[in-house]
Amino acid sequence: MIAVLKSGTSDKQIENLTSWLKAQGLDVHISKGSSHTVIGLVGDTSKIDADLIESLEMVDAVKRISEPFKNANRKFHPDDTVINVGNTSIGGAQFAFIAGPCSVESEEQVMEIAKAVKAAGATMLRGGAFKPRTSPYDFQGLKADGIEILLKAKAATGLPIVTEIMNANHLPMFEDVDVIQVGARNMQNFELLKELGRTNKTILLKRGLANTLKELLMSAEYIMAGGNENIILCERGIRTFETYTRNTLDLSAVPMLQELTHLPIVIDPSHATGMARLVKPMAMAAAAAGADGLMIEVHNDPAHALCDGPQSLTPDKFAEVTGAVNKVLAAISED
Ligand code: PEP
Ligand code: MN
Repeated sequence: MIAVLKSGTSDKQIENLTSWLKAQGLDVHISKGSSHTVIGLVGDTSKIDADLIESLEMVDAVKRISEPFKNANRKFHPDDTVINVGNTSIGGAQFAFIAGPCSVESEEQVMEIAKAVKAAGATMLRGGAFKPRTSPYDFQGLKADGIEILLKAKAATGLPIVTEIMNANHLPMFEDVDVIQVGARNMQNFELLKELGRTNKTILLKRGLANTLKELLMSAEYIMAGGNENIILCERGIRTFETYTRNTLDLSAVPMLQELTHLPIVIDPSHATGMARLVKPMAMAAAAAGADGLMIEVHNDPAHALCDGPQSLTPDKFAEVTGAVNKVLAAISED
């Protein structure tokens, strides 16, 4: 349920109303938007007399929210959420370019890539230290050493770092990580999501291989229900009957999610297509569709990458992508 307040409602009035609602056993979420304040109520609202609340002088309207996701719902929070990450932000005017290798392989590799992607316009550095591989015989990542390498690259370049967690017990290792990624395979690892909800870390939540947008939003809700509202959603392609591309990029997820939620949305054209040459057109299309950012795999030597070489761009190709995407962004900002 939400209560939309009339403009000019004082902080004192809001406080009185929220303490009364809390006394009814509800969680209260206040969103002071650009035009009006919205009070969102989570919990058993069945016993709440909506007419009584609506009759209050300060209340403009009361509406029941039919969707099962509440905190993530745009109706709870009409303005876009802007998340500050290190020296940058996502969700507002700043378009995010998150770039780096699929996996951290060595300090030299990450340093070289980090400097190159920064020069090409990246705003964050990605790299997997814990890798969720389909085969147990494939490279599983450098683990704690990989995180140390990312932190060195962050110190050298100033780029905030994004890296994947697979086990909540590893959280202490992520203390200095700026954005914790939950990979597609863990999107519905609810115990992991609950644990991340108890942190104040920014979480990049990737859509599962065969999950609906509603399920993605419910996974975000798991994290938000614990009190952590810093979530970036990521569409990375879903499984369909198509086999030429690794996955099928669902670009309609961008405008659809923007209607449903206030959380920022990034597109990962690398995992979505699995092919380096398809990354640029899909990155441009994602920007045109209104995405808040891109996550792109970049490797200094794709042919010898330990993971996902075929979809990795060289730093030069990545620079072409940022250039083209910036042109798209400039074109759409004109209308
Ligand atoms: C990744 O970003 O490295 C990754 C493993 O992605 P996904 O979880 O989308 O497969
Ligand atoms: Mn990868």
